[in-house]
Amino acid sequence: MIRYFFRGTIHFLTAFHVGAPGGIKQRVDNPVLTDVYGNPVIPGSSLKGLIRSCAERSAEILGLKACGLFYKTENKSDCVTTSTDVEKKDLREKLREKESRKKINENDTTEDVLSFLKGKLCDTCWLFGSHYHASRVRFPDPILISESWTNTLDRRDGVGIDRDSGLAVNGVKYDFETVPAGVRYTFKAEGEDLDEKDLALLGAALLEMTNGSLSLGGKKSRGLGRFRLEDLEAAKVDLNIKKDFLHFLAGDKEKFHWIKASEFFEPYIKTRLDKLSGK
Ligand SMILES: [Zn+2]
Repeated sequence: MIRYFFRGTIHFLTAFHVGAPGGIKQRVDNPVLTDVYGNPVIPGSSLKGLIRSCAERSAEILGLKACGLFYKTENKSDCVTTSTDVEKKDLREKLREKESRKKINENDTTEDVLSFLKGKLCDTCWLFGSHYHASRVRFPDPILISESWTNTLDRRDGVGIDRDSGLAVNGVKYDFETVPAGVRYTFKAEGEDLDEKDLALLGAALLEMTNGSLSLGGKKSRGLGRFRLEDLEAAKVDLNIKKDFLHFLAGDKEKFHWIKASEFFEPYIKTRLDKLSGK
């Protein structure tokens, strides 16, 4: 089994606001999400959402399909994620049927079931997961680098905005928290059995995050959340190789062969672009 590991640092260039789920009014009207020690937290799911939207945006350029959780490609896909309930039910039944056949017939393998499913999904759903299968790439919660954190949250005032008119609503004022600029987090991601298309798609998304133009969290229109993914590296590890498997089990990822992510992803992205331009 081939596993892919990615690591880097998320460096916030501006203050940011990743909000706590609504309902409980804590320190301010609109608090940031913190752990039990009061440290600001970024859920891996928020990060994954951003990475998926970047991948969907790049899919068309790479000649790949996205059914559009965030962006839809013109390159029409028949992804079952966007199909009717009847079609979804039909697919679930077919998958169940294939799974049960697998148990009695050795000729039907997990690979058969997966390749059947792959044919029903767009490239982004296949990589980032759908109702029918788990994502093949995982993004754990980034870990706060304590030296970068001053233990202070800032408070700002906001005015309620009418969504239709875009004007301030009289008397609707609230306050919200922000985490100061300069805070850094350790970024990690892990992928399993990724093919060349997956790596082109994931590469385009992760490399876009290194250019400092993207934002994470809420209140982006106020300029909050801009970050840069720094020192991004990748390691391709064959767990069938005894030495690498032992390093993996011991959590000794330092021993993997890490290379700069731009070098790692470039061949996959180039291959896609060359294919499109007919080179
Ligand atoms: Zn899809």
